[in-house]
Amino acid sequence: MTMRIHTVAVIGSGTMGAGIAEVAASNGHQVLVYDIASDAVVRAIEGIRTRLESRVARGKLSSEASEKIVARLLPVNDIQALAAADLVIEAASERLEVKKALFKQLGDICPPQTLLTSNTSSISITAVAAEVRHPERVAGLHFFNPAPVMKLVEVVSGLGTSTEVADLLCELALNWGKQPVRCQSTPGFIVNRVARPFYSEAWRALEENVAPAQDIDAALREGGAFPMGPLELTDLIGQDVNFAVTCSVFNAFWQERRFLPSLVQQELVLGGRFGKKTGQGVYDWHSERPAAQWLEPVGVTFSPTTIAKRSDGVTEIDEVLLVETTGETAQSLALRLNSPVVVVDRMDGDAVVIAAAASNPHSATQKAIYHLQQQGKRVLQSADYPGLLIWRTVAMIINEALDALQKGVASEQDIDTAMRLGVNYPVGPIAWGERLGWQRLLILLENLQRHYGEERYRPCSLLRQRALLESSYES
Ligand code: NAD
Repeated sequence: MTMRIHTVAVIGSGTMGAGIAEVAASNGHQVLVYDIASDAVVRAIEGIRTRLESRVARGKLSSEASEKIVARLLPVNDIQALAAADLVIEAASERLEVKKALFKQLGDICPPQTLLTSNTSSISITAVAAEVRHPERVAGLHFFNPAPVMKLVEVVSGLGTSTEVADLLCELALNWGKQPVRCQSTPGFIVNRVARPFYSEAWRALEENVAPAQDIDAALREGGAFPMGPLELTDLIGQDVNFAVTCSVFNAFWQERRFLPSLVQQELVLGGRFGKKTGQGVYDWHSERPAAQWLEPVGVTFSPTTIAKRSDGVTEIDEVLLVETTGETAQSLALRLNSPVVVVDRMDGDAVVIAAAASNPHSATQKAIYHLQQQGKRVLQSADYPGLLIWRTVAMIINEALDALQKGVASEQDIDTAMRLGVNYPVGPIAWGERLGWQRLLILLENLQRHYGEERYRPCSLLRQRALLESSYES
């Protein structure tokens, strides 16, 4: 199908609508900007003008180009004027009844070939399209905030969306310099679903008093190579917004326990502690953030007589065993192996998290820490917690990504692309799983499930299948 989109209409000119209108106008389209509140349209166009002027001032855009972009934005007071659009992008309030009413109206106003899309983050595209004439032209076009900056666009197909329409929207997104990924209309689509464990495991660690917030963030940021820690990120997103997305995904999945919202986060929301925008959230944004509690260098020198790295990921340092986490607590390992145990949680970076068995002699734990520090590692110590912080979170993200893959939400490649570009993960979760090893991930989740007896940590069927295949290649 060749491109035939000239005029674009944007409905709703709040945060997202304004950003999307800017993207469309910057790509040469005439843009009809409509909002139920006409002052919102004026504010949006003024906001776009100010942003473009700041780009002109920084030498990133010529003033002629900036003027041309603004001239392409046409405020519209009457929804009937949207009949002239080839593509409508709806970015009105996130309420099903609002969107259903708008789309039904659009179906009557716009000719059958007009593409009708919604920027919804959580509402079913199938539901939005249900009463629209020619529902095959209705799709999700999910931009990320800020729309002019973020490259990812999820192109969402409902039950009735035609392949041609999804193809055309992908082509358009590419022409706008965006990276489209295709997905089916399921709760959270790709990004808002697969990212849930990143936040929920951090809340869980906070709830279980495993480590202070700044250590949890440092572990994921510096040990897991995420661009930001999960808790500081929720403060930036806004606790209210992040909590609402979690609740929406949780309810949309019929209260699936994996997505259970956190009481700690709810308490912040109830207290109006939304994060950076209100000055207080997980952190107090008016004062300096407490530093992560990296362990001081061990004061004594140890000269172990034995240091042996075994094939099962265990390093023997004299009497103490340094065990790479597989989701068992240090204490459980110490009893099973009849030896002092320090569990270590690490990926590629130099930052590691450890936990020591409560029965360890102090000197045995110190010896293991000394060994890690001698290898140039920066060490955070947490409570004895199954799976610790980095592996546990990453395993849960990978498990969710595989679940989405198995259920046909999107392709493997699109899931990985979405998580790299939508939330800046260092690696796509499925490629990450391949690299870390499916069997180890499976064992880790099985151990977590056994430890807690909770459905939340059940390994998904595809993880079991991949682990089986991996073991068959090895044998
Ligand atoms: P917002 O509250 O900033 O703006 C919504 C705008 O829609 C308001 O100006 C409001 O007056 C207008 N509006 C409400 N009902 C309308 C109607 N019937 N007709 C026309 N205009 C109407 O909201 P937002 O954050 O820009 O979100 C808009 C949509 O984008 C939502 O569906 C949201 O889920 C989705 N989204 C938001 C983000 C985000 O980070 N904010 C990211 C991706 C997607």
